[in-house]
Amino acid sequence: MNRNTAKSIRNNLTADCAKCFGLCCTALNIVQSSDFPMSKPANTPCVNLKSDYRCNIHSQLRDKGYKGCTVFDCLGAGQVVSQVTFNNVSWRENPEARDQMFRVFPIMEQIHEMIAYAAEALSYDLPIALTDTLSKKLAELQKVTAWSASKLLAFDLVTYRFSLNGLLTEASDSIRETAIAELPGAKKLKDLDRSRVNWMGKKLNGKDLRAVDFRGALLIAANMQNTDLRAASFIGADLRDADFSGANLSTSMFLTQMQMNSAKGDAKTVLPFYIQRPSHWIRVGSGRSR
Ligand code: SF4
Repeated sequence: MNRNTAKSIRNNLTADCAKCFGLCCTALNIVQSSDFPMSKPANTPCVNLKSDYRCNIHSQLRDKGYKGCTVFDCLGAGQVVSQVTFNNVSWRENPEARDQMFRVFPIMEQIHEMIAYAAEALSYDLPIALTDTLSKKLAELQKVTAWSASKLLAFDLVTYRFSLNGLLTEASDSIRETAIAELPGAKKLKDLDRSRVNWMGKKLNGKDLRAVDFRGALLIAANMQNTDLRAASFIGADLRDADFSGANLSTSMFLTQMQMNSAKGDAKTVLPFYIQRPSHWIRVGSGRSR
């Protein structure tokens, strides 16, 4: 696949709440915590969801304690389930489809996440064999998004994710290896392996963290201010309340909008092409466009 096409696929994976039947506000289980002021069982509409599937307190989410709602991002899965899988017929219009629609949503969310990772990897210059294999996986996943609800419910996510993870690791190593060649002191991949490290609350401000592998790392509330994170890999890292103010993430890999929404940053944080600057980094009280 052409790198620009891959880039465009990755860029287009954004939520369009106006085309969704409020699935994240309905299908998902919410547990009372510092991110949500109340609990809500799965498959039940939130008390704040209006009849037009918009949020009644959208402009005050953070002020009212619904921080979690400003963090969540479905990568466009909600509108695909609403418009494609269920042909623009909502769970209110067709209550019989309600259960199926709510169960399909988290599956589509994971499929979109896999598409995002595969497309992002393909936006880099990779070895030809890896490009071919990843391109086939991406094309397969795109076809899966058009499946019927019953087929989607039977999709083996675990097996698929496992095989994709191996390819993404290969891609990440290849991209980082290229970046490492430009670093002073001839570092090796293993010297930059911080996967699954627990750096909760750690002060890393100002550090050169280029090409570091943060896969599955815990960086909760870490001070990442003014760090250089080009070519660093963040697949599955927990970035809640990590402060990326002034950091350079311009070529950081495998970040998701949800990870960045859960972190802190400012107008000076340099973000990769596929991440939008979270609105709450600039002003308090905003969130999804719902
Ligand atoms: S965005 Fe609004 S309607 Fe949706 S879960 Fe949060 S508070 Fe409820």
